[in-house]
Amino acid sequence: MDRRDFLKAAGINAGALAVGMGLGAAPVAANGQRAARANPAGGASDIAVVGAGAFGGWTALYLREQGHAVALVDQYGAGNALASSGGESRQIRAGYGERELYTRWVLQAFERWEARQAEWGRKLFYRTGQLSLADAWSTSLASTRGSFDRLQVPYEVLDLDEVRRRFPQIATHDAAFGFYTPTTGVLKAREGCVAVADAFARQGGTVLDARVEPGRRRGRTLLELKRADGGTVQASQFVFALGPWLPKVFPALLGRKIQSPRRAVFFVATPPGDNSYSYPNFPTWSAGGAYGFPSVEGRGFKLAPRIDEVLVDPDTQDRHVKPHELAAAREFVARWFPGLRDQPLVDARICQYENSVDSNLIVDRHPEFDNVWVVGVAPATATSTGSCLASTWPTG
Ligand SMILES: Cc1cc2nc3c(=O)[nH]c(=O)nc-3n(C[C@H](O)[C@H](O)[C@H](O)COP(=O)(O)OP(=O)(O)OC[C@H]3O[C@@H](n4cnc5c(N)ncnc54)[C@H](O)[C@@H]3O)c2cc1C
Repeated sequence: MDRRDFLKAAGINAGALAVGMGLGAAPVAANGQRAARANPAGGASDIAVVGAGAFGGWTALYLREQGHAVALVDQYGAGNALASSGGESRQIRAGYGERELYTRWVLQAFERWEARQAEWGRKLFYRTGQLSLADAWSTSLASTRGSFDRLQVPYEVLDLDEVRRRFPQIATHDAAFGFYTPTTGVLKAREGCVAVADAFARQGGTVLDARVEPGRRRGRTLLELKRADGGTVQASQFVFALGPWLPKVFPALLGRKIQSPRRAVFFVATPPGDNSYSYPNFPTWSAGGAYGFPSVEGRGFKLAPRIDEVLVDPDTQDRHVKPHELAAAREFVARWFPGLRDQPLVDARICQYENSVDSNLIVDRHPEFDNVWVVGVAPATATSTGSCLASTWPTG
């Protein structure tokens, strides 16, 4: 299977992914259910997925649900604080400019998150809606509008009077209009990763806590993963979904193709007794080069101001908030959300993006191996996205 077919299949179902990997699907039992292959503790799995972030977790779960024996390996565990998926929340936006493929995937992601939270009995996805304050019809925004028309994604173009009437909490400054998408939303990101890994384990998947790297090989076949503690993990196929760690594990292949800039996010307390900055009364938003979310479950009004984007190492970067980062957040709040100007900061998180050279996802075979896939990286732009897409990977 070539990459084009792989991506197509990946957007549809994980069984096709498995076939593409040369595994075939597990046999179908008399009751029509796919019989899961045993996932032997300590024995060889069909597939080892390294990385339990949004991409690896969903990949492992879908493959397990197709009946394969799957090991999910992570050095810090699902939902960990160092991973890009480990934040409190991430948005699912629908607009991707010219890259309509991602909008299509996002539309599937909405449905899948809704279905999974119902299946698991835990609330993970909040349909907040999304408001972008724009100063002009950029090429990207015009393309987004075209995609929305074609795909029947609801949206509204709001003049500034209407923005002020509906959302008096935000200052409009020199914006020309608002672009409002009512169906997008916010995911509880860290909790979502844990929920996916829990579901994977409940279905008999093997969860391993280990730092690994490619181990012995025979020709173009990777035979095993080498654990940092000296052991090995055996499998027939390997998926590396390492987010910002991809260039660390594959420096020659990806060192010049992926960069990980630092990103600070802040959470500001909403005023007492005032729910106008909280879900469902305020949408996710982008304005003045920043973006943010309403307070969800009382965790605080989130903002991610654009600050200097220094490149970082996800294992070792200093995750303390720096004074100039805090000052930028305070200044931004005062300018764009004057009603929150004096509200206390309740949380701040330092994370890192992983941006590819062409701002697209990387989903490909490792060129030196027939049984190794490399998966991940957000299709980032001014507002990044990735964790939402992972639910439709590898069905999306
Ligand atoms: C501040 C911030 C805001 C963001 N906002 C959004 C948003 O609103 N919407 C959105 O969709 N996306 C957003 N993103 C991007 C999104 O979070 C990421 O694209 C996505 O989470 C990446 O998932 P991943 O699974 O590829 O990587 P990760 O979540 O980083 O997972 C990689 C995992 O691999 C493990 N690992 C790495 N190396 C090894 C090894 N050698 N051995 C074992 N395990 C290993 C790590 O421990 C980690 O758990 C944001 C990112 C940041 C930083």
